[in-house]
Amino acid sequence: MTSLDRGIVYLVGAGPGDPGLLTVRGAELLRACDAVVYDALANDEIVRQATRPDGAPAELHFVGKRGGDGGSARQDEINALLVRLGREGQRVVRLKGGDPFVFGRGGEEAQALAAAGVPFEVVPGVTAGVAAPAYAGIPVTHRGVATSVTFVTGHEDPDRAAPGTDWQALAKAGGTVVLYMGVRGLTRIAADLRAAGMPADTPAAAVQWGTYPRQRTVAGTLDTLPARVAAAGLGAPVITVIGAVAGLRDELAWFDRRPLSGRRVVVTRAAAQAGALAGRLRALGADVLELPALRLEPLDPAPLRNAVARLRGYAWLALTSQNAVRLLWDALRDAGLDARALAGVRVCAVGPATAGALLERGIAADVVPERFVAEGALAALAARADEVRGSRVLYVTAEGARAVLPDGLRELGAEVDVVPAYRAVADERAVAEAEPLREALAAGAVDLVTFASASAVRNFVDAVGAELARRAPAATIGPVTSDAARAAGLTVAAEAGEATIEGLVRVVEEALRR
Ligand code: SAH
Repeated sequence: MTSLDRGIVYLVGAGPGDPGLLTVRGAELLRACDAVVYDALANDEIVRQATRPDGAPAELHFVGKRGGDGGSARQDEINALLVRLGREGQRVVRLKGGDPFVFGRGGEEAQALAAAGVPFEVVPGVTAGVAAPAYAGIPVTHRGVATSVTFVTGHEDPDRAAPGTDWQALAKAGGTVVLYMGVRGLTRIAADLRAAGMPADTPAAAVQWGTYPRQRTVAGTLDTLPARVAAAGLGAPVITVIGAVAGLRDELAWFDRRPLSGRRVVVTRAAAQAGALAGRLRALGADVLELPALRLEPLDPAPLRNAVARLRGYAWLALTSQNAVRLLWDALRDAGLDARALAGVRVCAVGPATAGALLERGIAADVVPERFVAEGALAALAARADEVRGSRVLYVTAEGARAVLPDGLRELGAEVDVVPAYRAVADERAVAEAEPLREALAAGAVDLVTFASASAVRNFVDAVGAELARRAPAATIGPVTSDAARAAGLTVAAEAGEATIEGLVRVVEEALRR
């Protein structure tokens, strides 16, 4: 039974939420598994990374619901599922929030696997009890302040006659108490600790959704914290830290003090390109909601192939984007050609990213406009009118692109062949995935929506509806996109001075900086 030999279950800690806090080993296993068994505390962004070794999506088994006795599969059913998948010969990642062996029932799952003879391994994770305080600016131990830390569950298993927590001992130990799952019972637990002799003015803090962009921290003392937590409406998941170290937050809070902390920004670029902008904004502390508004779809390659076959007849080549560059290179390669085929052809790149894509392929663009829009390219070419007049220009661009550049070149006396190589289409996922975004817009909880193109504006409006689209101000990459946003009834609050991702990040930061 070779299939039986291959089966294995990895009990993997997903970390507290921030996808960057998944371990390297955990990420490696997620990218080469057959199935993932996960529950509500594993961040979706991490679950989505799960693939089979060949890159196909792994089979997903959801076995939990937040806060939920009602919704969660029972532990024995989860154990049975893990055993079955392992016996079927699958490579299974059992993904658990935080660390699998810290209040995660990972120990019970390991016992079930051991009893069934299914091989398993454990990959520890960053536990919420350390990570949430750290992101709130609270070291769980600190020289001269706390020399011990105790992880305690505030939710004792009602089914079991196991001995309860000895609050007396904890109060006497004088170290840091880190409470998991205790937010509902906080008033009672605080009273128990006080009754056991812990001073009422002991610093304390509760951290909800630690390490997620929506992390919230409420600070107080053993005396005041329960009421403050209730007033702030903090519900699970919350880690509560009780002890003198909680007082260090005043000095050490960093997460909430980054330039865009607490700001919610929507990124609407094409999915393949959204990463750079979203990553930059997240690094500044923003809570980024991504709407994969545009997908770039190559068009019928025949016109581009024909143009490549006639390349010698062109004096100029103009390219609108990195995609145009990529598709042109595909066409060159299909014709058995490479960059040498462009010897003698002058090249105009409409933006710096386009110029960069050309440079990577060994071509230094002759013309890169100062303003990265068609008007800028036209102005730069008009400055070389002598070279343009009477020449033939090949313009590789997106379907439906504006005619500013070809029209202007024709006015300068050039003959222009426009070859659309790709089009931007609304991503079908966009509409479904826009639900959380619609909710945020309806609640007035979006600070800015960024647009890097006019078609991104149209797709955003299609995905959330015209009425909701107007609820949040827009930040655009340049004047053409701003016009499109205004035409759709949006308020343009910021426009990039330079039409690049860098320029867009800069205006977003200026507009929202605390
Ligand atoms: N194995 C997990 C803990 C699971 S118990 C770990 O090691 O972190 C579930 C409890 O963990 C929640 O009730 C909450 O108290 C805590 N928790 C998990 N993730 C959290 C987060 N991102 N922020 C705050 N608390 C969290």
